[in-house]
Amino acid sequence: MIELKGIHKVYQKKNTEVQALKGVDLSIDKGDIFGVIGYSGAGKSTLVRLVNYLERPSQGQVIVDGAYLGNQSPHALRQIKKQIGMIFQHFNLLESKTIFKNVAMPLILAKKSKQEIRSRVLELLQFVGLEDKASNYPSELSGGQKQRVGIARALASNPKILLCDEATSALDPQTTQSILSLLQRVNKKYGITIMIITHEMSVIQKICNKVAVMEEGRVIEEGSVLDVFGHP
Ligand code: ADP
Ligand code: ADP
Repeated sequence: MIELKGIHKVYQKKNTEVQALKGVDLSIDKGDIFGVIGYSGAGKSTLVRLVNYLERPSQGQVIVDGAYLGNQSPHALRQIKKQIGMIFQHFNLLESKTIFKNVAMPLILAKKSKQEIRSRVLELLQFVGLEDKASNYPSELSGGQKQRVGIARALASNPKILLCDEATSALDPQTTQSILSLLQRVNKKYGITIMIITHEMSVIQKICNKVAVMEEGRVIEEGSVLDVFGHP
């Protein structure tokens, strides 16, 4: 579902070059819950931004759902990017909009009909357990509830892939557990491939089936979670 081949990424910073990725190969299968773990600065966020094409690789190929991202037309790229949902550490909700509007946003942008938007948003809010919060604003919700909204929004356009960038790092352990259970349901119910970026081993051990360990721009270990880390 996601293939990275020989990826190098160099950032130009004033007069210096930062080598964020130094030859990364990674293959994530359909249906995987794939974890990428490493310390801050290892290159994890860069990897995610390459997969949803917010950044281009300096060298190498990014292939998503069989399509090589490097030679797509802008229109085709937008279609591919619709297959990718994303959730964030700080949720990135629109504070001045209701929960309904936040979840509806991708559908509004895609110019779906009012009726379709309404039924899809209510279905998603029900799925994440927030059907009674449709008229509330983000500031009225707890962190865990905000991340549920983030998940509902990410699912709105029926993605095949969900990217999670430190999605539980701002949450307490109990809330983290409930969000991880929800991600497991997302994976099972919709068959969505999930890529999780984290610095927390416990997150990987709780829900991932495969893991890549990153250090200084390289994958230093990769395999099933049991092979790499043993039993929790
Ligand atoms: P992680 O997500 O594992 O913390 P990042 O991918 O954010 O790692 O960063 C990897 C390296 O690339 C770090 O040295 C970081 O400072 C550098 N880096 C990331 N983004 C940029 C950028 N936009 N410009 C310059 N350097 C960057
Ligand atoms: P723009 O170029 O329109 O500013 P960005 O890519 O910077 O778009 O994203 C704007 C906001 O959209 C981000 O802050 C984030 O909340 C959300 N976003 C970005 N990428 C995704 C994605 N793949 N799936 C869902 N939401 C996303």
